[in-house]
Amino acid sequence: MPAISKILIANRGEIALRVLRACKELGIASVAVHSTADADAMHVRLADESVCIGPPSSRDSYLNIHQIVAACEITGADAVHPGYGFLSENSKFADILEAHGITFIGPTADHIRLMGDKITAKETAKALGIPVVPGSVGEVKPENALEIAREIGFPVLIKATAGGGGRGMKLATNESEVEEAVAAARQEAAAAFGNDAVYMEKYLGKPRHIEIQVFGDGEGNAIHLGERDCSLQRRHQKVWEEANSPALTQEQRMKIGEICADAMRKMKYRGAGTIEFLYENGEFYFIEMNTRLQVEHPVTEAITGIDLVYEQIRVASGAGLSVTQDDVVFRGHAIECRINAEDPRTFTPSPGTITHYHAPGGLGVRVDSGVYAGYKIPPYYDSLIGKLIVHGRTREECMMRLRRVLDEFVIDGIKTTLPLFQDLINNPDITSGNYDIHWLEHYLANSAK
Ligand code: ADP
Repeated sequence: MPAISKILIANRGEIALRVLRACKELGIASVAVHSTADADAMHVRLADESVCIGPPSSRDSYLNIHQIVAACEITGADAVHPGYGFLSENSKFADILEAHGITFIGPTADHIRLMGDKITAKETAKALGIPVVPGSVGEVKPENALEIAREIGFPVLIKATAGGGGRGMKLATNESEVEEAVAAARQEAAAAFGNDAVYMEKYLGKPRHIEIQVFGDGEGNAIHLGERDCSLQRRHQKVWEEANSPALTQEQRMKIGEICADAMRKMKYRGAGTIEFLYENGEFYFIEMNTRLQVEHPVTEAITGIDLVYEQIRVASGAGLSVTQDDVVFRGHAIECRINAEDPRTFTPSPGTITHYHAPGGLGVRVDSGVYAGYKIPPYYDSLIGKLIVHGRTREECMMRLRRVLDEFVIDGIKTTLPLFQDLINNPDITSGNYDIHWLEHYLANSAK
């Protein structure tokens, strides 16, 4: 894999470390960037070179395109891996890198744009043969909202075209709620994204969130790597992810996977992507596509044995995919727990110094985290401080292992969400795999009583 010789990692925390590890294994030089608040971070310590790109505020550092391009020029990096979040789905960033002759490790800027707008994403998905949620064709305006809602049938969900993180989403259960829900969604969308366009969808009552991992080489070859079940969410944020989904048969998996891979072939998609669905009563409904590596990618790596970051780098360097669909075999079961520096009951952030740290080990255990004893978690960024991924030959074995591993994990000095997982792993709905996207919210509301 020659074409890329030095990768600048435009991110921080566990994902910066994750990408760095792939660079080391592939013999590619690495450059870390960091804000002044992250000078002591593990990704900075382990990279071959590092560049400070600004003050703590993300806007002035990790989101500062000029500084990042300058860091590439200073260090001679010929490619950038954006991780997830920050600039990973910023088409302007991809355009600017290309204009500077720097490889963006991700899809084309046009594909990022296409999928970044939820309306064009849905239209594109539909045209490529992917099943979508019934809903409005294009944007919904206050004046035609009621008529469209009646056509779709109640309840309906009003969603922001520029949406992300569940913001700008409002439910209308009957005709009298439509006007207010549309106004509220538009207002929230304008504030969060600077774009008040909204659309409408049928609201699904008890779906699961199931997403398909796809990979394309940009030349019309594409594969799928099965699904991840991310139904356990709090405020639309994923908390626990697993592969395979307890709800799907191998036949369903291969069928929806092939539909997605075929769509990626038709659009000549390049790199890693995730096609997100709601799944209810045996039917899949497309909600969005993420044109980047996902936080939960390790569960897919665990059951396929394929390093997704290697593949991203391969594809970006023009070497194509290292595997064909026939090479992809799903072995066993994997679960990921997102460890946040938060109070496990109230979910308020808990930054501060980690006094003791012991990561669990043993067969089938992976911890992706940049923290260590003595590390001070800065208050400026996302509260995800690590991910625990456990693999077993069956779902039962995976859960037995997870129970043991959670007992072994020690993070002292701050509050973390580890205790939440100790509760979940002993809950019969979780052990039986019987949960939908509302389960966790209900569980948390009941346990707070
Ligand atoms: P965002 O980009 O803001 O995260 P998504 O479209 O991915 O928005 O939706 C986020 C979450 O909102 C989904 O995982 C699901 O929990 C819920 N949701 C979205 N669309 C629907 C729908 N049509 N019916 C029911 N729930 C939905």
